[in-house]
Amino acid sequence: MAFPSIRSDGYPMTAPVRGGGVRLDPPGPGPVGLGRFGEFGGRFVPETIVAALEQLEREFRDAWHSDAFRAEFSSLLQHYAGRPTPITECRNLSERLGIRVLLKREDLTHTGSHKINNVLGQALLTKRMGKQKVIAETGAGQHGVATATAAALFGLECKVFMGATDVERQALNVWRMRLLGAEVVPVTSGSATLKDAINDAMRDWVASVEDTHYCIGSVVGPHPYPWIVREFQRVVGDEAREQARAVLGDDPDFVVACVGGGSNAMGTFAGFVETRSRLIGVEAAGFGLESGKHGASVSRGVPGVLHGARSLYLQDEDGQILEAHSISAGLDYPGVGPEHAALAGAGRAEYASATDAEALDGFRLLSVTEGIVPALEPAHAIGWLAREAGGTIPEGSTVVLTLSGRGDKDAQQVSELLDLGDGA
Ligand SMILES: *Cc1c(COP(=O)(O)O)cnc(C)c1O
Repeated sequence: MAFPSIRSDGYPMTAPVRGGGVRLDPPGPGPVGLGRFGEFGGRFVPETIVAALEQLEREFRDAWHSDAFRAEFSSLLQHYAGRPTPITECRNLSERLGIRVLLKREDLTHTGSHKINNVLGQALLTKRMGKQKVIAETGAGQHGVATATAAALFGLECKVFMGATDVERQALNVWRMRLLGAEVVPVTSGSATLKDAINDAMRDWVASVEDTHYCIGSVVGPHPYPWIVREFQRVVGDEAREQARAVLGDDPDFVVACVGGGSNAMGTFAGFVETRSRLIGVEAAGFGLESGKHGASVSRGVPGVLHGARSLYLQDEDGQILEAHSISAGLDYPGVGPEHAALAGAGRAEYASATDAEALDGFRLLSVTEGIVPALEPAHAIGWLAREAGGTIPEGSTVVLTLSGRGDKDAQQVSELLDLGDGA
C-alpha cells in the first residue's frame, strides 16, 4: 500500500488538542522524499520558487507540531468556522435507498464549504512566515472567496487570479471577493479558466515570493502543498470517524466524497485510511465518460506533470492538457491531487463517476428527502449513491458521505435546468 503507516517526517506524535477548541488528531504521516506519494507528487518548479517551497515546508512541519499553532488553528476552526460540523443521519434518504446514510456536514461551515479549513490554516502559516500578502487561484470563485475571507480576518493583502471566462460566469463571487477587499485579476491566456489561473498565479509568485504566500485551494501543486492541504482538511475525516463510530458503533462500510482537485475527499479519507472502510471518490462524468467532455482524471487521465506535480491528467495523444467539463465549476479541473493517484494505484481508494444529469438528480433527491440543498459538487456523490444503492453498495450497507458544500451558490444555475412545474 502506498500510504505510509509509519511516521516518515521524523517528528514524535503530538497528543490530540483537547479543551477549548476543536479536537485535532495527531498529524498524519508526511510524504516521503520530495513529496512523493508512490510514483506521484514531487516538485517540478522553476528554480526561483524552490527556496519559498522549502521555507513553506519547514514552517509547516514546525507549526503542525507546535502546540501553540495547533491550539490557535483549533480555536479558529471552532469560533470562526463553526466546527465541529455535525454528522446527520438521513432517515428518509436511507429508507428510499435501502442503505444507511450519514452526511458529514461541511455545508454548515462559515462560507458554506470545507474550503474554509484550508485557508484558515494557510493564513496562519502566512502570518507565521512574516508575509503580508496572499495570492490564490480560483475557478468558480469558491476558493477565491474563502481566501479573501481569511485575508480580511488576518489583515492580509489579497490578489485572486481567475480565468476571464470564469470572471464572466461567476460575477457574484467576483463581487464577493471585491467586497471582502480582494483584488481579482482576470486571466486571458489559454482557455481563460482554472488551469490558466494557476499558471498565472505561479508566475506572479515567482516575482513576489519575498512577501507573498501562494494559498493553493486543493491537494494539488508542488510539494509541500498536497500534504499541507490534506493535513488542514483531515479534521473533516477525523471528526467524521469518531462521530460515525458513536452513531453506528462501528466504522462505516463505505466512505464517499466528490473529487475535483481532491481536497474534501483527501481530508475525509485521511480519517478512515487506517480503517476497514471502502473509500470511494466520485468524479465528474460530465456528458458521459465516452463523450470526452468530463472531469474524470483518475478514471480517464494518464500520468503527466502539470502545475508542479506528477499525477493523473486529462491529455490528448500529444500530452496536451485537455479541457475538463462539468456542470459544477468546482469539479471542472483536468487533474487530481497526487495522493489520490497513489491511493488509486495501490487500490486503497476506488474512483467512480457521476454525470451532469445524475448530479442534478442527486441535487433534487437530497433536497426533497432531507430538506438539505447540496452544492452541485457533492450532488455528484449523492447521484452516484442513488445509482449504486443495491448494486456496488449492497442493501443494508452503512455509508458516510461528505457534503462538501451547500447549494445556495448553485440555485440560480440549477433553476434554469430543473423544471419543477408551476406547483399548482
Ligand atoms: C471546490 C469545491 C469542491 C472541489 O474541490 P476538492 O478539492 O476536490 O474538494 C467540492 N465541493 C465544493 C462545495 C467546493 O466548493
